[in-house]
Amino acid sequence: MYLYNSLTHRKEEFISIRPRKVSMYTCGPTVYHYAHIGNLRTYIMEDVLQKYIEYCGQKVERVMNITDVGHLTSDGDTGDDKMLKGAKRENKTVMEIAEFYTNAFFKDCEKLNIKKTDTVVPATSCISDFIKVISSLIENDHAYIAGGNVYFDTSKPEKYYVFGDVSGEDLAVGVRDGVEEDCNKRNKADFALWFTKSKFDDQELKWDSPWGVGYPGWHIECSCISMKYLGEYLDIHCGGIDNIFPHHTNEIAQSEAYLGHKWCNFWFHVHHLNTASGKMSKSKGEFLTVSLLEERGYDPLVYRYFCLLSHYRKSLVFTWENLDNAVVSYNKLVDKIVPLIDAQGKVDDYDFKRLKKLFTDSLDNDLNTSMAITAIHEVLRSDADPATRLALIKDFDRVLGIGIVEAAEKIFHKDDAEPVPDEVMALVRERAEARKIRSYALADKLRLQIESMGYEVRETRKGTEVKKIEPRIVRMRDEKKQEDK
Ligand code: AMP
Ligand code: ZN
Repeated sequence: MYLYNSLTHRKEEFISIRPRKVSMYTCGPTVYHYAHIGNLRTYIMEDVLQKYIEYCGQKVERVMNITDVGHLTSDGDTGDDKMLKGAKRENKTVMEIAEFYTNAFFKDCEKLNIKKTDTVVPATSCISDFIKVISSLIENDHAYIAGGNVYFDTSKPEKYYVFGDVSGEDLAVGVRDGVEEDCNKRNKADFALWFTKSKFDDQELKWDSPWGVGYPGWHIECSCISMKYLGEYLDIHCGGIDNIFPHHTNEIAQSEAYLGHKWCNFWFHVHHLNTASGKMSKSKGEFLTVSLLEERGYDPLVYRYFCLLSHYRKSLVFTWENLDNAVVSYNKLVDKIVPLIDAQGKVDDYDFKRLKKLFTDSLDNDLNTSMAITAIHEVLRSDADPATRLALIKDFDRVLGIGIVEAAEKIFHKDDAEPVPDEVMALVRERAEARKIRSYALADKLRLQIESMGYEVRETRKGTEVKKIEPRIVRMRDEKKQEDK
């Protein structure tokens, strides 16, 4: 598999450090609010990556943190703690907020077919690990104490701006623009590893440390949790593109300063979901959640499908119209699978391998999910027998997780369960007679009458088919507009 590595800015062949075992670390959510569908785009694409690696026969050990302390509203170590902000907003304690939104996050993940990582680690459960690493960084002269806080000295690593996406000059421009400067820092890019009460007196959660009672910075948590659970060498680190700087840049600086060697080989970054007014973000306060999609009648898996139609390295614009287009395309795909559901017979090995290659070639090429969906269409169009086509689609959906076979099964079995009423069948027969004598105008009239009774009639290769018109997976935009009025 070839994967784009943000560190080298190239597609590289993905080879794990240990044979057949891949370690993967994911920056988890900051649990001060619901995850928005932008955050979830990132988790959907990371889920596809994990599932594809597993599909190819490797075991994936994946760890995710839960940021329940230390993430400030500004990445420049200034502003409020986001968790505290959430607690104040809802008049609850920080721990109550963390528990509520952590559960809400995993409920959303379940609805989107995102597999929960084997290990989920709240930052507040690892304070002693952070203290151990920070102490060692002070000892080896990569960190210093100033004004009651502990800072990482970014002038110490041989190369601090490892991703090359941001430079020291960019930061200097930010400062000229009036960003408040922390005068404790030796260098502009230095970042806090540990805050003491001297800086934020209203912080609710504080712990004792060799530097005073306080709390950890955000960046140190991911380094420590990753090293604790996945060891000194990491295969893949994931996150949204906004995490490249400063979060992942700082993670690399401190982890490698602590370990004394290279830490992580591959950096997988998912580009943003944007709205017409820019990046969807929790702090802006206006964002869409999975529950909101459901309230509007959308199946969450259609949102997953919508995400997979675009490459993860392209920003994706969310509009209701774009989502509706995805719905139409999803429904068409499911409709094509329905006739395969009762396919009998043996799977043809040759055809299976030949068509599977279209799918693996797509994902091997930097996880090209939209081409992987095209591969499903190729299977449906192919001359392979129905049992082989169905087996292939089931196999692909182990990775894509869009639930197309289950959706098709539901439609298929519903037809079985409910016989078509006699009065509808009488009209169907009348229509068939009309067609026989080429009275097409009458046949059309009868078809419309059948439709008005909630049934559709189609000519297929097997003969005339009558089935109940399913309520679509979502209502269309126009219907919603009517409703809004
Ligand atoms: P947070 O809960 O803010 O810590 O973010 C959780 C994950 O969502 C991180 O990997 C972010 O990089 C990612 N993220 C934040 N905003 C977006 C967005 N608009 N589109 C895609 N991913 C995002
Ligand atoms: Zn992180």
